Amino acid sequence: MWPWEHAALGYVCYSALTRRRLDAPPGDVAALLAVFASQLPDLIDKPLAWTVGVVHSGRMLAHAPIVAVALCFGVWWYLARRSETEYGVAFAVGYLSHVASDALQSVLVGEYAYARFVLWPLLSVPTDQQESVLAELGAFDPALSATLVVSAVVGLATVGLWIADGTPGLGVFHRS
Ligand SMILES: [Zn+2]
Repeated sequence: MWPWEHAALGYVCYSALTRRRLDAPPGDVAALLAVFASQLPDLIDKPLAWTVGVVHSGRMLAHAPIVAVALCFGVWWYLARRSETEYGVAFAVGYLSHVASDALQSVLVGEYAYARFVLWPLLSVPTDQQESVLAELGAFDPALSATLVVSAVVGLATVGLWIADGTPGLGVFHRS
């Protein structure tokens, strides 16, 4: 999934959960945290694999549930001690939506090897082929890509939800 798709999914999941739990749209800081956390697994693993080279896959350490759940619990616990439990929930929802959607996407397209990170380190994960990633990007054709159309429709629907929620997140910038 592209970064904006992870952001959209993280926001939609958090918005739905907040409306169900609190009967209210997400708050400014919580919405930003959910979107930020939805990018974090890739922001950690991709540079570690592709730039630093300490892991061999862009879906490994920070994507592995054993690390992801521990990290989310740690963040939630830290924020809960400061009476900011909701921020911890937002972080966890954004982060875990990324991990879950990466695994689900790999399973749905039949690339089961790329879902093995859900049981890392018990299962090994395949080594990223930088060339194939770059070739994929090079072959990307916006005009003909059906997935881009779907992505755009989902993106517009997410923006619609965000507007219906009262554009949470923007208030942080207006306040200053
Ligand atoms: Zn990812």
